[in-house]
Parts: sequence; C-alpha cells; structure tokens
Amino acid sequence: MRHWINTAINKINADYQRSADTHLIKLELPQLPGIDLYLKDESTHPTGSLKHRLARSLFLYALCNGKIKRDTTIIEASSGSTAVSEAYFARMIGVPFIAVMPKQTAKSKIQQIQHYGGQCHFVDSATQMHDTAVQLAEQLKGYFMDQFTYAERATDWRGNNNIAESIFQQMSLEPHAIPHTVVMSAGTGGTSATLGRYIRFKGFSTELVVVDPERSVFYDSYHSGDTALTLPVGSRIEGIGRPKVEASFQPDVIDRMIKVPDAASIATIHWLAQLTGRRAGPSTGTNLWGALEVAKQMLANQQQGSIVTLMCDSGERYLDTYYNPVWVQEQIGDIRAYQQSLALIA
Ligand SMILES: *Cc1c(COP(=O)(O)O)cnc(C)c1O
Repeated sequence: MRHWINTAINKINADYQRSADTHLIKLELPQLPGIDLYLKDESTHPTGSLKHRLARSLFLYALCNGKIKRDTTIIEASSGSTAVSEAYFARMIGVPFIAVMPKQTAKSKIQQIQHYGGQCHFVDSATQMHDTAVQLAEQLKGYFMDQFTYAERATDWRGNNNIAESIFQQMSLEPHAIPHTVVMSAGTGGTSATLGRYIRFKGFSTELVVVDPERSVFYDSYHSGDTALTLPVGSRIEGIGRPKVEASFQPDVIDRMIKVPDAASIATIHWLAQLTGRRAGPSTGTNLWGALEVAKQMLANQQQGSIVTLMCDSGERYLDTYYNPVWVQEQIGDIRAYQQSLALIA
C-alpha cells in the first residue's frame, strides 16, 4: 500500500517538476503615476484556473494523510473549476473521480470533467451538493475532498512555492518589490488564507485586501463576526462569493474587505480585454476593480507603490455569458456607469 501511495505522490510531484510558473503581468496605466499594478496569470495552468494549485494541494494532503489508497473513489461537491482540476489529478494517479453538481450545470463544464475521465453525479439544487457528496463517499467507501473545509490547510503557507511565495519572488526586481497591497477574492477562501499567512510569516508590510461580490456573506461576516450568516441565493460571479461562511475562510489574516458591485466586475473584464487583448473570467474583474479602488486611494493619499492581484481563469470559458452583451444585460444589468469610470483610467 505504501508503494502505491509513494508512486501516486511521485506522479504528482513529477508533473509539478515539469511545469512552469505562471506569469506575473504588469499593466501599463499611465493615469496612475507611481502606482504599479500586476496580475498573476493563473489561467495558464493545464486545467485553466488557480484551482489547479488547490487540487494538487488537496490530493497531496489526502495522500499524505492516508486518506487515498489504490481504488479509493474521490468525491467532490463542485460544479466549477475545482472538479475539473481534481479530475485531472485523479486520472493522473489512477483513481475514480465523481463530481456532485446541480443538474443545471453548464454542458461545457460537464464535458471538461468527463474529458479528464471524471463522472458527474447530478442533484436538483446546489443546496444538496454537500450532503449528497458525504453520502456518496460513505456508500462507495470513497473520500470526500471537501474543498470548502480543507482548502485553507492543504497548502503550505510558509512557502514551498505556494502562490504567495511565487508572487513575492517574481516581484523582487520591480521598483516597488514589496507590494503595498495584494487583492484577492474568496471562493473557498484558501488563496487569501495562504496570502495572509505568508505575508505575516515573512513580516512584510503588505496589506491583504479581500474583495467580495454582491451575493456573498463573507463581507458582512468579516465585519460582524457572525459566522452563521446565510443567503437564499448564489453568487453571480462564478468561482467567488458564498451563501454561507465556509470553514476555509480565514477573516483574521485579512486586513480589509471591499464589496464590489457585480456590474463593476463585468465592466472591468471588458475594460481589461480592451487594454491587454486578454479575456479573463468574472472573478478577475472583481479582483481588478478592488485593486483599482486601492490605487485611487493611494493616489489621493499621494502614496506610491505596487498592487498585485490575480487573473483566476480565462474568459474563453464564458463567451456565451459574461462576454455576451444580451446575457449581461439580463443577468447582471447595466454596466455603463462602471465602464465610464474605468475609461478615466485608460
Ligand atoms: C476558486 C476561485 C476563486 C477563489 O479562490 P479561493 O482560493 O477558492 O478563495 C476565484 N476565481 C475563480 C475563477 C475560482 O475558481
């Protein structure tokens, strides 16, 4: 059994050894003199999003804790990027993978999971995903990965080339090498936990700002301390914002939170596409809008420095939604006011 586990871990480590780091892109914004803005491009991982890091961490964590053995079926509650990335690693080590997801999940997502050999188990609504995943794991004597519980602890926050260490290393030759602020949104909260802990561990002065979309409880919970808050509706910004306070969300390492209107997030990804020719997913819009807010505050305070945020995934996944003006008008509303305010920056 140990031989199988060693082999599985070695396969994941070898895959990592073959991979390149993601690029840190500098945005050119002459309207923000003295302020340098950077985007860590997580869309270039083999499975297309920052969830590639999470899935690798969750598999290594479960393997090293003796939770996955030869033939253990891996189960996850996810209709999104996590299931795609986990299916990739499950296939790599040769174990079955089942994603529990709402039956309304977009066909393209289902196809991506199946492309990596994963199966999809459908439930009627998102609220049933967690319990069904727990039941399925019991029935099949499988293992429930449970991203919303384990994301914060599966990644080594001290370093080991986690996303925080990578960012600070890539910034080392920049004019403002230690960022004034790092901005990130929260889905599981795992990435912001790693960033906040790493910044503290290294003693950096960098502020961690977490941005939250409209339909999410993180912002209110951060301010009230109430971890029992819930919402009856899900977030409209895919990948971020939650209707309940997830266990992985770590408010104590966050310096400040900013609430970002959904229409601002969408206006920002369109603005970014014009500026750079790169389409990003909607959570990148939330991140970048927050980063621009911080930049404006720094300008007003006559401060100089750098701000780093993340491109979490590519917009090519969302051409018929967030990049479709009819869909945006119907689902999100009018984004013109935010477009006008962005036009003043570039
Ligand atoms: C998961 C996700 C996030 C948030 O990252 P967490 O580490 O889970 O908080 C942001 N954007 C996208 C597209 C995601 O899939």
